[in-house]
Amino acid sequence: MSTPVPTRASGLLPVADTPAVRRAFLRLLATEKRRAATAVGLHLVAAVAAAVAPILLGDMLDRLAAGTPIDTLALGLVASIIAVVVFTWAGTFVSHRLGERLSARMRVEFVERALRLPMPVVEQAGSGDLMTRSSADVPEAGVLFRDGLPQVTVSLLKVVVFLAAMLWASPLLGLCMLVIVPPLYIGTRWYLKRARRGYLAEREAESVIGDTIGASADGARTTEAYRLGAQRDAAGDATVDRHWRAARYTLFLRSVFFPFLDGSYAMPTAAVLIVGGAFYFEGAISLGTVASCAVLTRQILFPIDHLLMWVEKVQRGFAAMSRIEGVAEAEDAEADATAERPADGTVDLHGVRYAYPSSPRDVLHGVTLSVPAGQRLAVVGPSGAGKSTLARLISGSDVPREGRAAIGGVDVAALPLDERRRRVTLVTQEHHVFTASLRDNLVLAKADASDEALREALAAVGADWAFDLPEGLDTPLGGKHRELDAASAQQIALARIILADPDVVILDEATAMLDPRAARDTERALGAVLEGRTVIAIAHRLHTAHDADRIAVVEDGRVAELGDHDELIALGGHYAALWRAWHGDEHALEGIDGPGEQDEFAAAAKNM
Ligand code: ATP
Repeated sequence: MSTPVPTRASGLLPVADTPAVRRAFLRLLATEKRRAATAVGLHLVAAVAAAVAPILLGDMLDRLAAGTPIDTLALGLVASIIAVVVFTWAGTFVSHRLGERLSARMRVEFVERALRLPMPVVEQAGSGDLMTRSSADVPEAGVLFRDGLPQVTVSLLKVVVFLAAMLWASPLLGLCMLVIVPPLYIGTRWYLKRARRGYLAEREAESVIGDTIGASADGARTTEAYRLGAQRDAAGDATVDRHWRAARYTLFLRSVFFPFLDGSYAMPTAAVLIVGGAFYFEGAISLGTVASCAVLTRQILFPIDHLLMWVEKVQRGFAAMSRIEGVAEAEDAEADATAERPADGTVDLHGVRYAYPSSPRDVLHGVTLSVPAGQRLAVVGPSGAGKSTLARLISGSDVPREGRAAIGGVDVAALPLDERRRRVTLVTQEHHVFTASLRDNLVLAKADASDEALREALAAVGADWAFDLPEGLDTPLGGKHRELDAASAQQIALARIILADPDVVILDEATAMLDPRAARDTERALGAVLEGRTVIAIAHRLHTAHDADRIAVVEDGRVAELGDHDELIALGGHYAALWRAWHGDEHALEGIDGPGEQDEFAAAAKNM
């Protein structure tokens, strides 16, 4: 049977190679050196005690045959059994604690790295990939630390100690154990050569299923409206089929490997009994020694079996770790940060061209724009003109294909992520209330903010409702708790800006979800709060533009007009037409070129 291994889907987050995974594993282990050494020490004593028992048993057999007393040996046997129980318990306790701590550390590292991932990287990979890594790979790798590491260590120790005991009791019978080496080597090598790729492919197929199902669920209404059900079904079937092929391949590997191993276990026991029996009848070895070695052989096979059983889980765990470490590589790839720091909040765009990765067409065509620190620029224009794209470039979420987007003289995308987040905040109309207390929702922006600072921020954005909450800042929000309306959720997002205290704030239709009155109230409150910062406001309502220091009209990826309200009205161009249309002048759009453009501007004005 030769099932092809499905290839890696392009665009997903990176997967770390074996040396990188090994380094990550050892780095984590090094954080718990003392605990690891204690666990190994305890298991070693338990293994030695377990090896002593069969040797004593053999001696007792020989003494019984010779008719000599066995009291001391019997006492020794009891003591060794008690030692096995006590040290195994203590070793298991310490090693499981160790495993839990390592697993917890790995989870924390993963979450921190995932949160640091730049938005475009996640967007390109698809959220399904990141979700699968956090929901399936992290638990899988957790098993590696929690159970795999202790089990494998204990089994390895037992194999070494029992083998040493066998060689000590009878070097000849000890060597009989070697008959298991060739089948073990061949079988394990065959399996390991294929398993990593197989399990990685299985995991990737799960990521793709996650993405496809997520996309179908998100676009359920569109699917229904355009009768795309069959197409989405086909896409789902294809991903399930890919997963099925990947899972069948790993099943094939297991169904060959494990039966093969089971068959080879009989070999060393048979060898010890045959060789031991022959030498016993020759009088070259005692019955007790043969019995000791036969028991030790069984004892060795048990941890070997355990080890091989864990080979599969360890493979799965390491495959999962490759994907977890891959997230670090995606992050590192972005970590080529500059040491320069912005001088102030001046925003400069110079000859910026940009195309989304999914399309070769430029959506910005050489935009040049400068906003001095502390100024407020409103950006208006028809839908699809490129306003949000401009916002993403100024926030550093995306990098221009050509040209430069800088804050305070430094390329914004080259700033380290923490610095960038401190300097510039992008607020969109998407807002999310986390299922947590009001305080937790706010301190995301500033972990050490005092309650006083939180209340001031809420007051500044006019979130008066927050002061009537029954449990104040501790009131649980989101999920099955208190559901906030869009306006209140947006106010929380705006309060976070105040707490984050950035030099540059980009409001991308930030008040679009609010009704006109609430939006005006919030914008008025924000006016004071944004004082002194550079503000780029993608203006949804024309009064926002009117209040700005300057207005940029963006059309088809270009800045078509730039000036303050009065200048642009006097210019009599698109902005003036928009303004008049907004005020209900039915002849307002007469100056705009072409019926298509008129429609766009009419729609833009209607939306304002
Ligand atoms: P709106 O006012 O409707 O939000 P906008 O002026 O903000 O529009 P952008 O969202 O910047 O316009 O879009 C500019 C162009 O880029 C549009 O043609 C849009 O279809 C395209 N575009 C936007 N986002 C993406 C994306 N993720 N992938 C590919 N193309 C995109």
